[in-house]
Amino acid sequence: MLENLKDEWRFHRKSILLKVAATILLAFIPSIFPKVWSEIYQNFLLKIPVPLKYLAFLFLILILLLQYSYINHLADKIKLIKLKTNKFNLLWDDNKNPYCQKCDNILVDFIIPKNNSLSNPHFKCHKCEHKNFLKDETGKILTFEEAKKLL
Ligand SMILES: [Zn+2]
Repeated sequence: MLENLKDEWRFHRKSILLKVAATILLAFIPSIFPKVWSEIYQNFLLKIPVPLKYLAFLFLILILLLQYSYINHLADKIKLIKLKTNKFNLLWDDNKNPYCQKCDNILVDFIIPKNNSLSNPHFKCHKCEHKNFLKDETGKILTFEEAKKLL
């Protein structure tokens, strides 16, 4: 979970850097390749209506801003996960609220199976359906109350 988030964060950061670098490079084309630039200008840029050029520019800025706020959001998420304690096979915040080991969603449904069931008590995640069993270091299955007391 944490690794996936970190990978996604790295990917978007790289993509933003590439876009900014490409924009800066483009800005230097007229001075580095004046001939190429005048060709592009005469045959292509001159033919595009001005409002469309502004729109394209605004669109680029908007994409960059969106992507930037998304990587900030990812960074916050990564920080929050790092702040949680990994214990008894799931994640806990400071107020002893449990979170799914797989997707970091808050867990609310503690399922205690009926006597004739083979399954053990567990938290079922509403988001990813993962069954989170509470286990201590020896592998013993704990109830939510027992785990909370031991935290
Ligand atoms: Zn989950």
